[in-house]
Amino acid sequence: MPFEIPNPDDPRIQELVDLYRRAGIELADGFDDLVDEDDLNKKFAEYNALLLLLLLLSNRSEAWANKNLVAYLELADARAIRNLQAISPGTVFSPGVPPQVRERVLRDAIGHFQKARGILELHLGRVFRALGLEQEFAQLATGIRAGDPTLGRDELDRKIRRKLAKDFRKTPVQVIGKDGRTYTFPLDYYANLIATNAKLQAESLTEIARALEAGLDLVQISNNPSTIGDWCDIYRGRVFSISGTTPGFPALNQIPNQGAPFHPHCHHTMHAFNPAGFSADQLRELGNVEERFLIGPGNDFNTMVRGFWAAKKAGEV
Ligand SMILES: [Zn+2]
Repeated sequence: MPFEIPNPDDPRIQELVDLYRRAGIELADGFDDLVDEDDLNKKFAEYNALLLLLLLLSNRSEAWANKNLVAYLELADARAIRNLQAISPGTVFSPGVPPQVRERVLRDAIGHFQKARGILELHLGRVFRALGLEQEFAQLATGIRAGDPTLGRDELDRKIRRKLAKDFRKTPVQVIGKDGRTYTFPLDYYANLIATNAKLQAESLTEIARALEAGLDLVQISNNPSTIGDWCDIYRGRVFSISGTTPGFPALNQIPNQGAPFHPHCHHTMHAFNPAGFSADQLRELGNVEERFLIGPGNDFNTMVRGFWAAKKAGEV
């Protein structure tokens, strides 16, 4: 069955991205002013203005989530019910988006928005103190000067400002990349990741909740190849047990993020799986995931990801 994959060119996601892009520009401008300001009182006012901008951004993000993620959840839930009714005709589903799914999707997305705000606030606070305290500022200056001892005072100031501004711009988002390293992204990019991820999460979690209501314990990872050739391709098309109690299938909590979407940029989703009509051999194959790609004692997420890239390099996967 072809699965409906949410359209990435979504005007509602674009709305959030635009909000973050504008905020990113305003924050960066305000940050430059804060760095350039010599009067400590004015500097303090600039600092407060930036904190206010962050508060506003976080309030607007939450409003966006409460409106648009709830709408996505309703659509995804209706789709999950249609899918499950085709697999298990006659199932009576409880009305409304399952509350635990709604709560988790909103909590995760809003948590990510708050995380960005928290990181920016911390960084701002650090810079503010560094700018006010000669000693810390001097240490930073020494560090930069060490790289180029011929720098004049003006050039040094410019370098410090550039470094602070660059640090600020790259501060917002930290994401573990496909090689297990941490990468940082600009705000609008981050917003896109969070919103797209929440949308896919809505697909997967409503499907799981409705599968359980229909008495099904198996879900299949969508078969689309990863858009970036990532480790989650290991799981595509494979079937997992939601409860972990169906023999022959690994438990959903043995894979990263307890299933798709596995990571930012991941376009995999999960769908209820009905084993009827499959041969024993087919089912064995569908439930077959190498132990080294399952998370458990002695094999945490980072170990698994590093193992995947080593295996890929060696041509084993
Ligand atoms: Zn994926």
